[in-house]
Amino acid sequence: MKPALQVMKFGGTSVGDAACIARAAQIIAEAARAGKCVAVVSAMSGVTNRLIEAAKTAQSGNAQAALAILDELAAKHASTLETVVKNTADRARVSEKMKLVFAEGRRFCEGTALLRELSPRTLDTISSLGERLSAPLVAAAVEERGLPGESVESSELIVTDDFHGGADPLMNETRVKSQARIFPLLEKGIVPVVTGFIGSTLDGELTTLGRGGSDYSATILGAALDAAEVIIWTDVDGVLTADPRLINEARTIPSISYREAAELAFFGAKVLHPKTLKPVVEAAIPVWIRNSFAPEKRGTKITPGGGSSTGVKALTAIRDVTLISLGGPGIVGLPDVVGRTFSTIAEVRANVLMISQSSSQNDICFSVSSADAERSIEALRKEFAQDLKHEKVEHINVDPNIAIVAVVGENMRGTPGVAGRTFQAMGRENVNIIAIAQGSSESNISFVIEESAVKRALLAAHREFGLHLPTNGN
Ligand code: ADP
Ligand code: ASP
Ligand code: MG
Repeated sequence: MKPALQVMKFGGTSVGDAACIARAAQIIAEAARAGKCVAVVSAMSGVTNRLIEAAKTAQSGNAQAALAILDELAAKHASTLETVVKNTADRARVSEKMKLVFAEGRRFCEGTALLRELSPRTLDTISSLGERLSAPLVAAAVEERGLPGESVESSELIVTDDFHGGADPLMNETRVKSQARIFPLLEKGIVPVVTGFIGSTLDGELTTLGRGGSDYSATILGAALDAAEVIIWTDVDGVLTADPRLINEARTIPSISYREAAELAFFGAKVLHPKTLKPVVEAAIPVWIRNSFAPEKRGTKITPGGGSSTGVKALTAIRDVTLISLGGPGIVGLPDVVGRTFSTIAEVRANVLMISQSSSQNDICFSVSSADAERSIEALRKEFAQDLKHEKVEHINVDPNIAIVAVVGENMRGTPGVAGRTFQAMGRENVNIIAIAQGSSESNISFVIEESAVKRALLAAHREFGLHLPTNGN
């Protein structure tokens, strides 16, 4: 029988410096000795942000400052390489590769500065450099541990549509290319170390899967390669009952369902990219979230059914949300306002996080991430220009200082009173509720509040549902 294949993804902090890379390489080497293992790596932490800054600086015309950022990153990678890789031949090979990647980055920054124009395509190319640098580093670190490793650029594996900055995979094509490139390596006992975050179109143009998209790369490859499991190594013990940066009494959840994890990710739990679970649903491949800084801990297992617990499983919040409302008494008689509103939003590919509509249809209000707000509002003003002129639509209002809190649990329907308890807890803490939505699946209750009340709201609900207690059924 073929040994089971594991796809393992290491996030930015898990490859953040030489010591982290050594730890990641150790985990990969152990897995590759026990079975088959494909590693997927993010850029070293902070690098993608700096690259985007370089691209934007170049766009403003300041080539020198953009190149200074690249120089700083080159120094950081060179010193990490020195510490991680002792073998001189390997070190020279990786150093050469890094030089080529930086030379490409410089050319793109210079071109951008010259034209003062940054296309989404060029931004993808510049922001993908971090993964193209970390993969050879990690592959060399695996080699240092006596196993052959080879870095692979995922533009050779993951075929996507051409939506730069947030591309989606074409799974059939991805499957064929990934298997053709990766299986022969595994047969030869070589550990592939693949760049996360990156894909390419059918025409071979580089794309990225969106910020935090290496999680998505891992499950895309897990599905394409028929992996037995995907392990996402990060800097926390698993999926927690709330964001540990906000709620320090949050606890690790041992098992959670695809749906629950997807809801948490959709509503802002940064531990998973929102699309992470999509590729593995069909084949029901389990996904683990584990701590690369504490590999002895079990982590969280995400499966189709999750654990057997009922009631509230976890809380999450999305900040940086903008509430858009469109309406006025005049829209009662206006046919198809809802349809026009949401097809307009869909056309600009903005992600609608929550919708609420008053029964009189005087007002439709919905929220989008603030990053999508400007283009959504612009598109709506265009679509409803005539209606605004003739006062059929009276206003398109925008409130940028809000947040959405979501209470998530697959089996909440079996537990009456969750909504009542949630809102009573908010009332006790004086948290003003601006809008409410509950999906018909009853696996989440979400509500809009002022940004400034997020921490208070989360803490109140966390306590209300006993999520801080070891006996909460998780
Ligand atoms: P990586 O670099 O490994 O991809 P991220 O920073 O993207 O890691 O995601 C991990 C972080 O997600 C954690 O450090 C934690 O602060 C944050 N986080 C937010 N909500 C949760 C949650 N419910 N469970 C675990 N971590 C969470
Ligand atoms: N490096 C990319 C980012 O920072 C992708 C990732 O880390 O998942 O967005
Ligand atoms: Mg991440």
